[in-house]
Amino acid sequence: CSTQSSKMVKARKYVVMNYFVNEAKPTDLKLVEEELPPLQNEEYLVEAEFFSVDPYMRPYVRNFPLGITMIGSQVAKIVESKNPAFPVGKRIIGNLGWRTHTIIDPKTEDSFFKQKPYLLPDIGDLPPSLGLGVLGMPGNTAYFGLLEICKPKSGETIVISGAAGAVGSHVGQIAKNLGLNVIGICGSDEKCKWLTEEMGFDFAINYKTMPVAARLREVAPQGVDCYFDNVGGDISGTVMYQMNPFGRVAICGSISSYNADIKSLPKSTILQPAILTNQLKVEGFIVKRWLDRWNEGIMQNLQWIREGKLRYRETVTKGFENMFDAFIGMLHGENIGKAIVQV
Ligand code: NDP
Repeated sequence: CSTQSSKMVKARKYVVMNYFVNEAKPTDLKLVEEELPPLQNEEYLVEAEFFSVDPYMRPYVRNFPLGITMIGSQVAKIVESKNPAFPVGKRIIGNLGWRTHTIIDPKTEDSFFKQKPYLLPDIGDLPPSLGLGVLGMPGNTAYFGLLEICKPKSGETIVISGAAGAVGSHVGQIAKNLGLNVIGICGSDEKCKWLTEEMGFDFAINYKTMPVAARLREVAPQGVDCYFDNVGGDISGTVMYQMNPFGRVAICGSISSYNADIKSLPKSTILQPAILTNQLKVEGFIVKRWLDRWNEGIMQNLQWIREGKLRYRETVTKGFENMFDAFIGMLHGENIGKAIVQV
């Protein structure tokens, strides 16, 4: 196996100093340097090229002790290796956190996803950053969440909240390819225009400027059969009251509550009449449920891209020092498609 001469490597990493309270603050994280030791048997060293900033990071960081490296995934290049299965020059996808250089013991899985770093599949001349989006965790969330939870049928109507983000824009395109009427809900006119003019959505509703209930009744007088919920809160209640009998709801995310202290939120029971009278099936899911089918999702999404059936967009922030701004920007809706940081 190929190795480079061992010289001292310094990693930069963001350490979690405080749990985020309401809005995350830059001082909740601290950028520090760490000297990495020489590689041991089977280990390899990677250098980050692209980072993902994802909504789950906001609530999930609380599950870890203060002082850990901020959680997150990255595309990284192997720059030194004592492992023939991970040769220098190849790229991996790994939940390694917000850090520029990492020594990987291939037997170790991360403590959040319980997933080992894996080689980026051969995606030809497509950008490697897609391994964090349409060809990675968000892509698999869209693929498995829609097909396995919503179980969509041609001719049905689906509503997707958080529609112009990484997961939502992907879900809408698969649903459209399957012959559904697709309605997206998102937070700007620019996003609505992108969804209907470029992503093939039939309608898009700007929840910041339009009355969602009234607009949904206008564009879906036939009622809603599937709801792919990325946001929770009022938007979701509104959609669920317009669902048809035996509708299916995939609870994928709840970003409208991520900045709140969950204990302080009202424990509402007002959804039960909609669920009961419309006999809805409501199911939450976490994509790691399908870790054993991970490659299936990636390969199917890759095939759809190559066939021109699946499009993607990234909002790329440059610079490791801008990780925090990219993260907050994504939580505020500044991204269209997948939010990425390029080192
Ligand atoms: P996005 O790319 O969609 O980015 C987040 C978006 O959320 C923002 O762009 C913003 O768009 C929207 N948003 C922010 N605050 C609010 C709010 N208060 N109400 C409504 N929308 C809001 O992120 P992802 O595609 O990566 O993730 C989408 C959802 O899916 C998240 O909730 C995430 O946690 C969840 N998820 C769940 C997984 C699972 O396994 N269950 C796996 C991956 C993601 P806008 O301008 O429209 O407001």
